[in-house]
Amino acid sequence: MGAVTIRCPRTGHAISTGIETEPSVFDRLPAVAASVRCSACGEEHFWTTRDAWLAEPMLACTDG
Ligand SMILES: [Zn+2]
Repeated sequence: MGAVTIRCPRTGHAISTGIETEPSVFDRLPAVAASVRCSACGEEHFWTTRDAWLAEPMLACTDG
């Protein structure tokens, strides 16, 4: 399982959409638009699977 992640257009930070899925499922998702409350800037962003990638849950954030 990986976390579907997008980049915040305001801060440039990678943020999780809160959706977790398998890579094989993610690859087959249609490019539908969805919205997410951004954990970086607090605004709502619209995104599609073309904007998103799967973040490996094992890769813990080690910076700062
Ligand atoms: Zn944002």
